[in-house]
Amino acid sequence: MIFSVKYCVVHSYYKVKAGKIIFMAAKDNWPSEKISPDDLLNMAREAARRAYVPYSRFHVGAAMLFDNDEVIQSCNVENASYGITICAERAGVVIMISQGKRNPLAIAVAGSHEDKDDYLKVACPPCGACRQALMEFSTNMLVVMASKDGAKVYELKKLLPHNFTLDPD
Ligand SMILES: [Zn+2]
Repeated sequence: MIFSVKYCVVHSYYKVKAGKIIFMAAKDNWPSEKISPDDLLNMAREAARRAYVPYSRFHVGAAMLFDNDEVIQSCNVENASYGITICAERAGVVIMISQGKRNPLAIAVAGSHEDKDDYLKVACPPCGACRQALMEFSTNMLVVMASKDGAKVYELKKLLPHNFTLDPD
């Protein structure tokens, strides 16, 4: 396997980016014993390779984890009418709802331009629209991204503070 960084690395991760958003790893609340963050990230990479991206050639894949270790994979789908292009994460939300699922536990996202030497090995953070779309279904969801040190786990609520809601505090 190319991506051999161990599971424990993810759980020990903690980082503050000076002057910016604080990213903090979920430490002991990874929801699956069978599928590790690295496993989920590799499923996202697999989906990314199937992306339909003739215009940008920027592949993105997502893998959403549910109870009972079920996983939904999705990818970005572009269109000649650029505005109807859909991100991998929101494509996953469409599949999730279509299959009667409502409670994603975690999502891994992988993406990069197909010509890059580090194809699918660098972090591909979900865009703002996708963060909001995911927050609709779980405020406690975890987000997995690549890094130089392997898969890293973030909390969605820390990636999207002050999300839009019809019922603010
Ligand atoms: Zn997006």
